[in-house]
Amino acid sequence: MLLHDLVTRQAEQRAARTAIVHAGNTLTFGDLETQSDRLAHLLAEQGCVKGDRVCLFLPKRPRAVVGMLGTLKAGGAYVPIDLASPAQRVERILRVCEPKFALVTKEGAKLFQDSCAAAGITPRAIVLEDDDQGLDGALTFADVLAAPTTRPDPGLSDGDLAHVLFTSGSTGVPKGVMITHKNVVSYVEWAADYLGTQPGDRASGHPPLHFDLSTYDIYGNLGWGAELHMIGPELSLIAAKLAKYIREQELDQWFSVPSILTYMAKFDVVKSNDFPAMKRLMWCGEVLPTPTLIYFMKRLPHVTFTNLYGPTEATIASSYYTVPSCPEDERSDIPIGKACAGEELLVLDESQKPTPVGEIGHLYIRGVGLSPGYWQDEEKTAAAFQPNPNLEGDRIYRTGDLARMGEDGNVIFLGREDSQIKSRGYRIELGEIETALSALDYLKESAVVGVPTGGFEGTAICCGYAPAEGREITPPEIREALVGALPKYMLPARWKEFDALPKNANGKIDRRKIRELFAGESS
Ligand code: AMP
Repeated sequence: MLLHDLVTRQAEQRAARTAIVHAGNTLTFGDLETQSDRLAHLLAEQGCVKGDRVCLFLPKRPRAVVGMLGTLKAGGAYVPIDLASPAQRVERILRVCEPKFALVTKEGAKLFQDSCAAAGITPRAIVLEDDDQGLDGALTFADVLAAPTTRPDPGLSDGDLAHVLFTSGSTGVPKGVMITHKNVVSYVEWAADYLGTQPGDRASGHPPLHFDLSTYDIYGNLGWGAELHMIGPELSLIAAKLAKYIREQELDQWFSVPSILTYMAKFDVVKSNDFPAMKRLMWCGEVLPTPTLIYFMKRLPHVTFTNLYGPTEATIASSYYTVPSCPEDERSDIPIGKACAGEELLVLDESQKPTPVGEIGHLYIRGVGLSPGYWQDEEKTAAAFQPNPNLEGDRIYRTGDLARMGEDGNVIFLGREDSQIKSRGYRIELGEIETALSALDYLKESAVVGVPTGGFEGTAICCGYAPAEGREITPPEIREALVGALPKYMLPARWKEFDALPKNANGKIDRRKIRELFAGESS
């Protein structure tokens, strides 16, 4: 099964039904199918063949999905570009992935021009608008609509590339994670089965298109006839507005990174028995603070809450845990659970032997979600995707996460390998300090980073925090509040107040940036 075939299957059964909703505009399954068939035809006519990269300079709109499906049907692999990225970062991506085509709208036209000029490449542009936005020699959406609906046959098989997703690399150079049709189809088939996705369901589309969680939103919902309600970044700026949107659209499924949920909880915008249509609420991408989970579970007793875990390299998510009942203790861990179908989570020690139940180890993943590797980077691929020492011919992916296997077979996430620090000889998990901070209701957000000092204390514990709206709070007061929860050596030594903590392109707290700000102060 190819990824786009999932959507075609639905278009054949329910052409007139709504597929995508965005800001009051809708696109039916039938229109999605014919427009993407026409785009595929045009791309093939212009020379697109199997494996060609097609960069998407497209904002989150129904037409972006036309662009994705059209690319896949022509045999291409799409590369979604974050339109909020500086041209310099996009230039590096373009140099690496060498696209033959780019799909552009007015919002992405300038970034397209600037980054291509800087990279010295000239991919053929198809502007998905009525005019060419001043791009020399570009085709337009009128050309797409004039193309026949006969689809090309690029000779794809499910092991071929569907897209390349660029994630930030630890060295600052973006890494292109290659994802095949089969990688995504395997996950969304499991998800639709586990979640019971039905035609007519009304699901959120919150994460940005360059983040792999949106891959689930698109194929995991449209592929089963559900409606996808695309939420632009502007809606997430005001918590009350977002809650109102969920209410008014009668969404029955919510899926996002945790920070937006914590934001809604901090502003207390969810009422008792709110969102009556909601059936499922899921999060992925980082730890959801337990106080946030309790906030939602208390108010939404009719909703099922599921934690999904996984890195881009293993496609969307690799494990799941549906929370059986509202936790009583704000400090209790929410497991990342058990592997999705076709995947396996392995907790291994330094010599890649399984750790005994309950003991900390390195988390590896194997199975159907594993990417073939990083685009044109054999060295990084070999470092992260290793031979499975216990199964010949198999591969395992080293996540960089630490975990332990619970008695009941549920895996507990314990943080990143790199978030453990030594301060005055004490071994400290920064996550423990963050958990204590997240219990303070007068803080909107907080994050703790370690900054090497070279002195006796080794690594200084530094805390970035944003007070809740209308609250004034000083570091000594926060410190005083933590004294009861943490040993003294874990109390942050340095503090920095923010209106809102810096976030990365995926909406996660940007700890690297916070660390840099502290490090810059001490140098
Ligand atoms: P990304 O590739 O951006 O999805 O980042 C993957 C990393 O995010 C994982 O290796 C984890 O460190 C973290 N992560 C993803 N999902 C979860 C989760 N449910 N709980 C805790 N951490 C998570």
